[in-house]
Amino acid sequence: MYIILLGAPGAGKGTLAKMIEKKFGISHLSTGDILRDNVNRKTCVGNQAKEYMNNGKLVPDDIMIQMVKGRVLEEDCKTGFVLDGFPRTIEQAEALELIFNGLNVTIDAVLNLKASQETIIERLSGRIICNGCEVIYHTENIPPKFEGKCDKCGDKLYQRDDDKKDVVKKRLIVYKTRTKKLISYYERQNSFYEIDANKKADEMFVEVCKNLEKVGKSG
Ligand code: ADP
Ligand code: ZN
Repeated sequence: MYIILLGAPGAGKGTLAKMIEKKFGISHLSTGDILRDNVNRKTCVGNQAKEYMNNGKLVPDDIMIQMVKGRVLEEDCKTGFVLDGFPRTIEQAEALELIFNGLNVTIDAVLNLKASQETIIERLSGRIICNGCEVIYHTENIPPKFEGKCDKCGDKLYQRDDDKKDVVKKRLIVYKTRTKKLISYYERQNSFYEIDANKKADEMFVEVCKNLEKVGKSG
């Protein structure tokens, strides 16, 4: 099964993608996670991407497209994947079409996570992430059992550099000017679904599963 998640930063793409990964047994491909991993390991891509990310800007399309092209060929993508954070521009969407053609597969669902401005700000400002397993928590909505510590692996929780207020503002502007256009790009397809992302994660997941069952992919 092949799924694309659309939605503003903080709409809940990462959390939902992890739930889909678990239930449907497909890989969660988060370009943000892949980039952060590259930044930490100081790879060539990581060094190039760091400045853009810390300023809330998009990493250039050619870097992103190469990255995704390589990633989807890995073994764990054989039975499908859920894309989180890609595509983010029309150029990326066009490149993705070619990637899917190359794999000889079609998109099963494009899920557009629609959240209000208030929801987005509230989620991003409270978001904390596990340094080890990248599980997402929220200081108020999904607190860990022990402050600052991951329930699953015990590693330290941290706030992303780009979740600081001034960078969040920039990311939301980038979303509005570049990424939002993807809605009209995909909306014509019958595999497009709008999801109310103001709901809690598990309620949102129920809605998503209903839609996936409609396309006969109940897992
Ligand atoms: P969010 O969706 O919450 O903004 P991500 O973790 O998906 O966060 O992305 C973090 C940052 O990584 C983005 O602000 C951007 O700099 C970079 N990035 C991730 N995916 C892409 C992409 N497809 N194209 C360009 N830049 C990207
Ligand atoms: Zn963890």
